[in-house]
Amino acid sequence: MRILITGGAGFLGSHLSDMLLQSGHSVICMDNLLTGRMDNLAHLLGHERFSFIKYDVCDYLHVEGPLDAVMHFASPASPQDYMEFPIATMKVGAMGTHKVLGLARAKGARFILASTSEVYGDPLVNPQPETYWGNVNPISPRGVYDEAKRFAEAMTMAFHRYHGVDTRIVRIFNTFGPRMRPHDGRVVSNFIVQALQGKPLSVFGDGLQTRSFCYVDDLARGIISLLMLDSDKTPEQRTDRKFLVSGNTGAETASMHEPVNIGNPRELTVMEIAKLVLELTRSSSQITHHPLPADDPKVRRPDISRARALLNWEPQVPLEDALLRTIDYFKKVI
Ligand code: UDP
Repeated sequence: MRILITGGAGFLGSHLSDMLLQSGHSVICMDNLLTGRMDNLAHLLGHERFSFIKYDVCDYLHVEGPLDAVMHFASPASPQDYMEFPIATMKVGAMGTHKVLGLARAKGARFILASTSEVYGDPLVNPQPETYWGNVNPISPRGVYDEAKRFAEAMTMAFHRYHGVDTRIVRIFNTFGPRMRPHDGRVVSNFIVQALQGKPLSVFGDGLQTRSFCYVDDLARGIISLLMLDSDKTPEQRTDRKFLVSGNTGAETASMHEPVNIGNPRELTVMEIAKLVLELTRSSSQITHHPLPADDPKVRRPDISRARALLNWEPQVPLEDALLRTIDYFKKVI
């Protein structure tokens, strides 16, 4: 396949590029480098099946030649970044998604949207199945990201229903691994960098809020499985296909065009993550508490029944191994 990845210079985009090139596909990365970094792609420059275009997907979009798939991963994704760039975040989720969907339609390419567990907001249901509609405050500082992604999902379904584009939506839960920026602002990278530098670990609030952390390789494998699902089928066979899912909330049927959670269901409190990082880095850093950001979700854990049924996917890398690999990475770069 010839595949365009928007946000290709980001943490996830670069891992997806690696995995797709390893499977023999051709990859075009597009990124405006607002939060993406060329360092993430340095090892791919010069690869015969790889190319990079510095471009903002909110502008008029044109790509030479055929495309088989478009992966829309462009967006600031760390709370720190989307609060610093609120308007760019809303634009890429809204106008950017519209432009990229238009490109997929024009090329007859399948399309996958990088959506997020943030569409569930501060959830009143735990774990979160895809059928949960969420609890989002549209006017909170986080709302820029949550609502941009909710709009992006709605636009994706509209292109699927109205224009018949073969679309997929992945709802990505907390993910970490090599190539996160040391000052990305997210909890795992912050804690590892702080522990390695002997600085206090910054726990926001009482640290009893929960998250469920997935290693980037597991996540990328799940996303690519969803993208590739039924690539051997005709469009008629594809749209008809429904999967029976027996989930935590009972049985349902779902098609591959509906959102699919990808994440690791092992749920920990932020305090537990802090202690695990201290143990694995053998750091003697202290823990300090800082104010909890507004509308910080109190719990988060994916129900991955759909991913299991549709993709036969589940995470394989244990959290401790994944943390050790990430600690090794940060030891080299900081
Ligand atoms: N957090 C923290 N210390 C940090 C960064 C984050 O305690 O230095 C908390 C944050 O308040 C949230 C959780 O860790 O409850 C995960 O935050 P992150 O920014 O990684 O991602 P989110 O799940 O909020 O998008």
